[in-house]
Amino acid sequence: MTLSYSVRKFDAVIVGAGGAGLRAAIQLSEAGMKTAVLTKVFPTRSHTVAAQGGVAASLGNSEEDNWRWHMYDTVKGSDWLGDQDAIEFMCKTANECVIELEHYGMPFDRLDNGKIYQRPFGGHMSNFGEKPVRRSCAAADRTGHAMLHAMYQRNVMVNTQFFVEWQALDLVRDAEGEVLGVTAMDMETGEIVVFHAKATIFATGGAGRIYYSSTNAFINTGDGVGMAARAGIPLEDMEFWQFHPTGVAGAGVLITEGVRGEGGILRNSDGERFMERYAPNAKDLASRDVVSRAMVTEINEGRGCGPNKDFVLLDITHLDPATIMKRLPGIHEIGVQFAGVDCLKEPLPVVPTCHYQMGGIPTNYLGQVIVPQGENKAVPVPGFYAAGECACASVHGANRLGTNSLLDLLVFGKSAGETAVKDLKSGMRSHKPLPQDVIDKTLARVDRLNNQKSGADVHETRLTMQRTMQKHAGVFRFKDMLSEGVTKIMEISEQVAQTEIKDKSMVFNTARIEALELDNLIEVAKATIVSANARTESRGAHVRDDAIDCPETPDGRNDKQWLKHSLWYRDGNRLDYKPVQMKPLTVETVELKKRAY
Ligand SMILES: Cc1cc2nc3c(=O)[nH]c(=O)nc-3n(C[C@H](O)[C@H](O)[C@H](O)COP(=O)(O)OP(=O)(O)OC[C@H]3O[C@@H](n4cnc5c(N)ncnc54)[C@H](O)[C@@H]3O)c2cc1C
Repeated sequence: MTLSYSVRKFDAVIVGAGGAGLRAAIQLSEAGMKTAVLTKVFPTRSHTVAAQGGVAASLGNSEEDNWRWHMYDTVKGSDWLGDQDAIEFMCKTANECVIELEHYGMPFDRLDNGKIYQRPFGGHMSNFGEKPVRRSCAAADRTGHAMLHAMYQRNVMVNTQFFVEWQALDLVRDAEGEVLGVTAMDMETGEIVVFHAKATIFATGGAGRIYYSSTNAFINTGDGVGMAARAGIPLEDMEFWQFHPTGVAGAGVLITEGVRGEGGILRNSDGERFMERYAPNAKDLASRDVVSRAMVTEINEGRGCGPNKDFVLLDITHLDPATIMKRLPGIHEIGVQFAGVDCLKEPLPVVPTCHYQMGGIPTNYLGQVIVPQGENKAVPVPGFYAAGECACASVHGANRLGTNSLLDLLVFGKSAGETAVKDLKSGMRSHKPLPQDVIDKTLARVDRLNNQKSGADVHETRLTMQRTMQKHAGVFRFKDMLSEGVTKIMEISEQVAQTEIKDKSMVFNTARIEALELDNLIEVAKATIVSANARTESRGAHVRDDAIDCPETPDGRNDKQWLKHSLWYRDGNRLDYKPVQMKPLTVETVELKKRAY
């Protein structure tokens, strides 16, 4: 072994400086904890920056709203797979978190009376599903950008210590199962440091890059999820991936649902507003999985547009140009740059594109990472917390509603930080001795990459994995394709363990970064396809052709057998299941029923 490392001590280390990481850091630093935040990119370039449409909160600034309606919509949106205690907590805490953000200086759009501007969004309804409601708090179509800047500034004020362009490599978890920090690498120099911490929070975002066509940034490689899996933590509900209905055809870049919120309409090659047939009530503002499937059905049945009939159109030409330029300026720009279309004059070509990971590291609503122990028992992993897209609280269940993700990262970023502060202040956590064997394993992984003399090319292997996932586990899923996909991904996983980096220089080696990221992506891909192959029902974003005609439930959802969360374990590629928390904290359960819009 040729690699050396040093150790740095902190009260808390947070991996990730997107919305979730920044929100958690505020909580810890404000409480006086010595807090390190590690990030692969400058904080305000984290993927939260791409969020366009807004953050959900039932402020009721434009019309009557209520957190109970928001809770009902979220449970229904999740196709009843969301945990109702966490959903209640999120919807109830939403207003407080958005107002807090406003006080950090977030430049929300305003109504004439000075209150925060709110727009309608898919699946958000008033009075328990009656009609669309204005619930999304927005800063034009740059909400995530504004949010990151407000929270980064707040962190600077409270002295959070940032380690920018540092890549966390592995979780340091000892033989008793306690988490003692992370190993990380300075991406420029290759220097390795163990960040020894009493509390470790993962906020590493999503892993949309397991798919070939994705709205996600190149850095969204599921690092936290991969690290957790390698440390023996199971991954929850990984079969559920959201395909956003409106990615620019051919480019994958997102067109926010806010466009439909402002009055945009989806049309097929006949010019028909086809959503009226699929969701007579909510129409173009039905839940994302419903709209994506309707679009794919239109395309598959020959009503797609363009020379290959492989996209549909998003039409806003009937809207007031001044409103578009005020509320959706970024969309106009995206249309011109990525589709060559001026959306004031022509409709935009769109297709469903991989967008959001509903599953992840299992947590509760306090932000603690929770693992099963013995019969029917789940316990927190000492010293380990997670929030944001890498975590599964689980508030999104089988399908996330738009604008609930920015809310998730605010609410659970805050609660993960709060719980960590409580644990630190109570003296529960100390700097326990570091386990040398665990650190050696990480060093050996990096060492292998540095020295491997022959093997599969990293970039090619990654592309093969992405294409395989796109083909075998996309919007519609087929029994034979899924099982074939499992075999292929397992073969690719073996190749990943033998990849070779062609350029072995230690200075700013992007090939090494890509190779380390691939180690994480492949864990996410395995968890996804194995869990999807096993779940023989259709629910939310997971739709199987062989479940559609299930005699018990015509829509393919099978509550008797499948109203449960999946847990995938890396060791042995094993699946286990745990019950859905149907009991909220204080209110009545939202009872099971068929999901229709
Ligand atoms: C185009 C687009 C538009 C969206 N619009 C909306 C919207 O309008 N409303 C809404 O609610 N949701 C929206 N979403 C979803 C939402 O933006 C994301 O789910 C959310 O921002 C994720 O935040 P996060 O803090 O969990 O992760 P991110 O913002 O992705 O941050 C992850 C952080 O982890 C760091 N990181 C990752 N791996 C490592 C590592 N190994 N070492 C060190 N650091 C690491 C990264 O550098 C980064 O700082 C949108 C998503 C997309 C793709």
